[in-house]
This record gives sequence, structure tokens and C-alpha cells, in this order.
Amino acid sequence: MKIEIQEFNDRVESLENILGYQFKDKSLLLAAITHRSFVAEYPKKLRDYEVLEFLGDSVVSLIVSEILIKQFPDAREGDLSQLRSAIVSEAYLSKLAKSLKVSDFVLISRGEKSQKGEERDSLLCDVFEAIFGALYVDADYKIDVPREIFNKLFKDRVLEDIKTENIPRDYKSLLQMETQRLYGKIPTYKLIHSEGPEHDKVFVVECEIEQIKTTGKGKSKKEAETAAAKEAFKKIKE
Ligand code: MN
Repeated sequence: MKIEIQEFNDRVESLENILGYQFKDKSLLLAAITHRSFVAEYPKKLRDYEVLEFLGDSVVSLIVSEILIKQFPDAREGDLSQLRSAIVSEAYLSKLAKSLKVSDFVLISRGEKSQKGEERDSLLCDVFEAIFGALYVDADYKIDVPREIFNKLFKDRVLEDIKTENIPRDYKSLLQMETQRLYGKIPTYKLIHSEGPEHDKVFVVECEIEQIKTTGKGKSKKEAETAAAKEAFKKIKE
């Protein structure tokens, strides 16, 4: 048991170092990295991350909103809102979580671990949110500390990823909205070809709207269409 408590402390301390912040209440950060499955098999009472995740979801969303309105003061609400949901999505927050090495710290059951549960995007995203929830609570429910840490670690990257269109988005709907606005039309998609064995197929799809023609590749038709839509969206934005 002693060894385990040491192990908990080590994890909390390493994560504090990555965040550059010392928690007043270390049990908050411990809870933020504790998955329900670990609590279930641990003999003593422990708190899991779920409530902190619930709170952290809003904390991250608020911080991201502030970054966006400052960066794009003239943007419309609809665009800001689309961009924010892309940033706070599981697909993107799990990427940010990886740079905090969340999967090295999270406490999950042996069963989950044997299935590489600590590398699942949904869990990475949840723990990421829970960490920001924990920071918010530890800072007496004030946004300053979590905001400062988020900005220090991630703001430049997020802005760069926005600029380079590196945030996973629903490009088919984005493109459709844009082409409806510009041309009063929606794009068409055509399967050009698919190659490779049944279990490992690659699809190539062409997207066409007005004089713009792009192609995209993917492991499914949907993925290929999204890739083609992304290219067309970029062209239209140029
Ligand atoms: Mn979540």
C-alpha cells in the first residue's frame, strides 16, 4: 500500500512539473487522472475524474472562446462557434492531451490497461478536461490559473493549427455552407476508384463545385470525401 501511495505522489508530481503548477490540494490532481475502472478495483476509497471532467469541459470551452474572440475580433458568432466546437472536440483535445503525456499518468484497471484503454481518444480528452477542472477548483474557482496554463502550453499551437487547417473539422458541412452562400449550390462527390485488398482499401473521391475540382483519399468513402472537401474548402478560402 505504501508503495502505491508513493506511486500516486510520483505521478501527481511529474504532471505538476509538466503543467508548471503546484497544487494546493494534490488530491484534486490525483482524482483528475483516476479512471472509474481503477476506483472499482482499488481497496481504499478514491475519487474518479468524472465530476472534474464535467467542470473542466466548461473551463476549456471558456478559455478557448476567449482566445478566439481576441484573435478574430470581427468573426461572426456562427463561425466562432463552429471553430470552438472543432477545438474542444475529442479528436483535437486528445491530441493536446498527448503532449501532456496523459496516458503515462492515468490510473486505470488492469483490464482496461490490457486493452490499451489509456490510449483511447475519449479517455485522453476526458482526463485533459478533468485536469483543467482540477486547476480551476484548486485556484478557488477562478479562471486565471487554468487560463494562464492553457495559454502557456497550447495557445500558440492552437492558433497555428487553425491557420494551417490542422484541426479535425466536418469539412463536408463547412464546404456546403460556404458554397451555398457563394454560389447557391452544393458540391458533388464522385468515387474515382478504390484500390487494395478488402480489409485495407483506399478510396479516392473527387469533389466538384463550380470551376473547382479536388480529390481526396481515405480508408472509407466518407473519409475520402472529407479529405476532398477540405481541399476544396481551402481553395475557396484562398
Ligand atoms: Mn469529456
